[in-house]
Amino acid sequence: MKFSVLAGGVGGAKLANGLSKWLSPDDMAVIVNTGDDFEFLGFYICPDIDTVMYNLAGINNPDTGYGIKDDTFNVIKNLEKLGTESWFHIGDSDIANQIKRTMQLNAGIPLSDIIEETSKALGNTHLIFPMSNEPVRTWVVTNEGESLPFQEYFVKRHFQPEVKQILFKGSEESKLPKKAHEFMESSQLVIICPSNPYVSIDPILSVPGVREILQNKTVVAVSPLISGKTVKGPAAKIMSELGIDVSVTSIARHYQPLIKGIVIDTQDRQETEQISHCGIIPYVTDILMPDTQAQERLAGEVINFSIQLHKESAA
Ligand code: GDP
Ligand code: CA
Repeated sequence: MKFSVLAGGVGGAKLANGLSKWLSPDDMAVIVNTGDDFEFLGFYICPDIDTVMYNLAGINNPDTGYGIKDDTFNVIKNLEKLGTESWFHIGDSDIANQIKRTMQLNAGIPLSDIIEETSKALGNTHLIFPMSNEPVRTWVVTNEGESLPFQEYFVKRHFQPEVKQILFKGSEESKLPKKAHEFMESSQLVIICPSNPYVSIDPILSVPGVREILQNKTVVAVSPLISGKTVKGPAAKIMSELGIDVSVTSIARHYQPLIKGIVIDTQDRQETEQISHCGIIPYVTDILMPDTQAQERLAGEVINFSIQLHKESAA
């Protein structure tokens, strides 16, 4: 059976990597958020795509989850000395990827082709697609009325401003790259990784046509929350700022009516009944992925659970 995997950065890449250990390249492709993409020092940076690409290639920095293992930071340090902006701390090897991508984009090559080539060059056999080749930009409107491009909110301001609204500028004009569209259409199952629902998965769902495709698939989400907390990042903070109860039930409701099932942590077991009342089937297990072993173990359970749901819905 074929799986389309929707992912943002760090949380998404962990599960996507686990899934890639079980599913062959014919049976799995990752569709990645590009709402965080931005230009920095003249380079076109795709933080989430790179995180997924580096994780699947096994070259990611295991401490941060993003960036390249054992990278050096000479370029950014020297740029800082020269008085250039340096709030986005990017490593030297990582910059090589940005140079290649920016050169190819300037030559008119579509982002999805560039990613396919780069990912292959890094040793990946599973396909990784940007959610669209057209630019979609996530903006955060703060309660003080400021509008911030996502990376400025996330990296420069350390997600401190209070979020009032999240916008995906350009999404109406975007579309899935052709190969991503074909892969999604032909897959029976869709896994929504434990990425931030509001700023990593929603941008993908905002691409015209994606929700329609999902309506005909067995979709299973994995919670990014454990016991009311995010493992990393602003998901819980954003939820409370938007006036949403910080719980796995809220995550399940957020993905209604797209998902058939949701994978939640044993610490949230008490919410299973509430989730079932929404018409969503909960599956309870340990969903923390501190290492690649845990990624693989959870991925195996997610695959079995979603195949079981698929068979039940087909019966
Ligand atoms: P970003 O784009 O790098 O911010 O990453 P994502 O949106 O893909 O992932 C961020 C989310 O992943 C956060 O809400 C985290 O709680 C979640 N996350 C990170 N590590 C884990 C983990 O080991 N298990 C689960 N279930 N969620 C995780
Ligand atoms: Ca991201």
